[in-house]
Amino acid sequence: MTEEETENEEEKIVKASCSFCGKEIECPEKMLKVDKHMCYECYKNPPVEISEKELSKIHIDIPINKLNEMFYDAVATQMKEIAFPKIWQERKSELKEISKKELAELMFLEGAMAGAGFLFETMKDKEENDIVEESLK
Ligand SMILES: [Zn+2]
Repeated sequence: MTEEETENEEEKIVKASCSFCGKEIECPEKMLKVDKHMCYECYKNPPVEISEKELSKIHIDIPINKLNEMFYDAVATQMKEIAFPKIWQERKSELKEISKKELAELMFLEGAMAGAGFLFETMKDKEENDIVEESLK
């Protein structure tokens, strides 16, 4: 397949540069319109302070072998910061009635599910990218 034929593909991989250190990274074409790009090194050691909100608008180039690590981080973060306050708000009245053991189980389920969703989304994107890259060779 030639490069032209892949133009209809949803995910075309193009070169971009990290907005923080200038390193060349890969970026799906549709992500080019985001304000900033970030390489994995800058993600792990941010050169400037970046809030979670800002981070959600930045395209981060993550190597596939780092995804596992990120998956566990995401589960841990979601359990602590996202899942629990959300359950608490939604089920405040119920939660007062249940035991600590039940609460721990509930938190685990919500956290694990959110993390798994994140992983599947990311894996799906990566797999599609790999297929496009293969077909360009
Ligand atoms: Zn960088």
